[in-house]
Amino acid sequence: MGPVEVVLTDFERTLVRMFEDDGIEQRFAEEVLKNCAGRGVPEGVLKAAGGSPYSRWTRAHRWMLKHEQDRLATNRLYHAITRIAIVYEMEAAKSVKLFDGVYPVLEQLQFAGIPVVIVSNNATAAVELVLEKNDAKRLVDHVVGREFNDKMIGILKPKPNLVVTALKRAGHDAGTALLVGDSVDDMRAGRKAKIRRRVALLEHSTATKLQLRRAGAKRILRTFGELPDLPELRRVLHNADASAGR
Ligand SMILES: [Mg+2]
Repeated sequence: MGPVEVVLTDFERTLVRMFEDDGIEQRFAEEVLKNCAGRGVPEGVLKAAGGSPYSRWTRAHRWMLKHEQDRLATNRLYHAITRIAIVYEMEAAKSVKLFDGVYPVLEQLQFAGIPVVIVSNNATAAVELVLEKNDAKRLVDHVVGREFNDKMIGILKPKPNLVVTALKRAGHDAGTALLVGDSVDDMRAGRKAKIRRRVALLEHSTATKLQLRRAGAKRILRTFGELPDLPELRRVLHNADASAGR
């Protein structure tokens, strides 16, 4: 493998915690439950998904695909939840702070000429608002997130589509990329997109080390701030420092 030329990173629980204020997430989860139940998804299915609005959304969509003959009704549910999600994500985005250690690493990567692409299941607009509020927009080259259109149905992570799009946007192929995320879905998406360097971050993950390893994590770190410790990055970041000092 050659040197790392591009970093693809997840957003939620990797760079930030979108719903630090539990109140927003709870209201979001309740509205998802109400809406899905109103469209015929059994409450048991929704409650079995736990408290996360996204798991409820995924479970409901999967249930509809399996049990609902009318594909349009399934798509309508998907879009209804997308509309709900963006409201709560934008509300949360106004006050979300990047995790400690994220900003300096983004600066180091930029200094070394390594583009950073955010690959997120969150709404692109919400991710961009967070970056703007944290004065970090200039440190991120592209945001590939959830858009409001038909094409998004079923292509979010763990599917590789967003990761593949991110590589294309950055103009790099999988062999030069390093993927960072906190979830099993991130690792699966990266693996399917043929990215071999896959790093999982534990601190804010809801998965265990074992689950992340099984999903394809090659390396496990605690936080994004520890990325420069990776041998494959240390070299490129160090070279950039050295040439600047000359
Ligand atoms: Mg995440």
